[in-house]
Parts: sequence; structure tokens; C-alpha cells
Amino acid sequence: MSDANHVVITGGGRGIGAAIADRLAELGYKITLMGRNLETLTAKAAELPHGTPITCDVSDESSVAAAFAEAVKQNGPVTILVNNAGIADSNPLQRTTLEQFQRLLNVNLIGTFLCCRAVLPGMLEMKRGRIINISSTAGLEGAPYITAYSASKHGVNGLTKSLAAEVAGTEITVNAVCPGYTDTDMAQQTVDIIMSKTGQSAEEARAFIASQNPQGRLIQPEEVADVVLWLCQPESVSITGQAITVAGGEVG
Ligand code: NDP
Repeated sequence: MSDANHVVITGGGRGIGAAIADRLAELGYKITLMGRNLETLTAKAAELPHGTPITCDVSDESSVAAAFAEAVKQNGPVTILVNNAGIADSNPLQRTTLEQFQRLLNVNLIGTFLCCRAVLPGMLEMKRGRIINISSTAGLEGAPYITAYSASKHGVNGLTKSLAAEVAGTEITVNAVCPGYTDTDMAQQTVDIIMSKTGQSAEEARAFIASQNPQGRLIQPEEVADVVLWLCQPESVSITGQAITVAGGEVG
């Protein structure tokens, strides 16, 4: 990949997306951060040497089209897309509403589709690029109470493999990175749900989610970012259509 890399990171204002922004900025890349909260995006972008905040709801087709048009106008063709924006929720299936199920699919899966579609014409013209979808171990295995989240992330992994096959004649690679529980607001949200449903303390709930990782700890956002950075390197061009777990050996 050349020096003229323009990276778009959805959900780049905080959590894993912000850690990815820090790592890729070290290489001198122009970084566009997309998300719904302009204040968070602006604060994070100000920490980067060349950061641009742009509001975008990845589940909204017209919002995605407008945001990517603005990103290209400001920073040039997108050479690296990190589909990181995501939401989680949990409920037993019989208590999962259609609205809840569709909301998770719309952000996690449809959002990934819309953003891939937005950058693909430019990447195909350049015949190069990187698309990295932040999926989850829940995209590789099932677990109780997360049918909607797990279905959305299995969908992301399927999209990843099929799109990688579709663009295999170019130097565009498409991969999924599948973290286990990672120490961000999203993991804290899970802790809060466990506490409210089971009466466990914060320490007990946190220890429970850490125990899902065979190494007995939460993944740090920077560990996920390091894998993304590696996938962006020129020498990673042969790695495509993969789902790479960052999960301390949790089943993948
Ligand atoms: P956070 O909750 O910390 O951050 C989520 C990010 O997604 C925010 O920047 C948020 O920005 C953005 N976002 C949410 N909805 C939308 C939307 N509709 N449009 C645009 N942006 C949106 O989560 P993490 O950093 O932990 O998660 C990042 C990714 O990693 C997600 O895809 C998640 O599923 C995945 N993951 C996380 C794990 C974990 O344990 N933390 C484990 C495995 C996977 P804003 O609010 O400004 O819109």
C-alpha cells in the first residue's frame, strides 16, 4: 500500500475503533472517523495527525452515501475500510423482539454491506485496497441469549468470505477480525446486564466474561488494532477471506 492511504474507520471515535485509528495514524495515514456522535469523533480526530470526523449512521443508506462522498472529497479515494461500528444486545430468543433483532442486523451486517459497497468502485478502479470487518467470536460460535448478535456477526463473516472471492483478481483483500470480550464500553454494557439480571457484583460479572477467554482476561483494544495494522501491510496481500480470532484461544 502506498503513502497516500486514506483509511475510513466506522465507529472510530471510541473503543476498538479509536485504538485502530491510533495504530494506523502511526503510519502517517489519513484517517476518517465515522459514527453518530460528532463530539466523540471530533475529540478523537483531534488527537490524530490527520484525522477527519464525519457523522454517519451506518445502518442508513443515504447517510452512508453522503458520508463516503464527503470523506473522498476531503481525503481522496478510500484505500482501507475498517467496518468496526457495531452494537450488542442480549435476550433469550422468545423475548427478542423483531425490532431488536432487526436493529442488530441493520447496524452490524447491513452497515457493513453498505460501507463495503460505498468503497468498492474506487478500490476496483485502483485494483488495490483493504477491507477489514470487525466481527466477533460470536460470528464463529453460538452462545445463549445472543441469537441476534451472533446471527449478525455470522453474516459479517459470510459477507467477508464471499466478497473476498469476488475481488480475488485484484490486490483488494477482505478479512474479518473476530475478537473475544474486549475491554470497551460494549464489554461494560455486558457487565451491567449480567449484574442486573443475576445480582452479581461488578467484579463477579467482569470475572465471568473474562473466563470466556481461556487466558482468563479481557482482550485489550490495542491487540485488535495490531491485527488490523498487520492486515494493512503490503506483505499481507495474500491473506484474504479469513476470519482471524483475537480471543486468547477461545474456539474459533
Ligand atoms: P463500543 O460500544 O465501545 O463502540 C461502538 C462504536 O460503534 C462507537 O464508536 C459507536 O459510535 C459506533 N456505532 C454504533 N452504532 C453505530 C451506527 N449505527 N452508525 C455508526 N456508528 C455506530 O464497542 P467496541 O469498540 O467494543 O466494538 C467495536 C466492534 O467490535 C463492534 O463491531 C463489536 O461488535 C465488535 N466486538 C466487540 C467486542 C467487545 O467485547 N467489546 C467483542 C467482539 C467484537 P457512535 O455511538 O458515535 O455512533
